Amino acid sequence: MAARRRGHVATRVFQALRIAVNSEEEELTRGLDAALDALAAGGLVAVISYHSGEDRVVKSVLHEAATGGCHCPPELGCVCGAVPRVTVFKASARLASPGEIDRNPRARSARLRVARKLP
Ligand SMILES: [Zn+2]
Repeated sequence: MAARRRGHVATRVFQALRIAVNSEEEELTRGLDAALDALAAGGLVAVISYHSGEDRVVKSVLHEAATGGCHCPPELGCVCGAVPRVTVFKASARLASPGEIDRNPRARSARLRVARKLP
């Protein structure tokens, strides 16, 4: 079961090569930042990723946008003047339901994250 969840070893190797060759993590960061810039206030951005590394990038970009890049200690409150760009709908990514995975096995690795652009 664990092996099945991670996918066939050849699939994983191919995925790692594809990610390295295409610089996908940097492209994903730039693309998502550009999407957030282009989005109108109140607009939604929804991202489905199919790999945990991609989801990590999406989570990180949305977290930075949600905090405005603020890293002030929570006990002090924000003193850096960071302006949040979005609100993230759920702290953790949504997964496909077991029924959906039965109908569409490719959905098994999908993670959905949604954010709304602030005014
Ligand atoms: Zn701050």
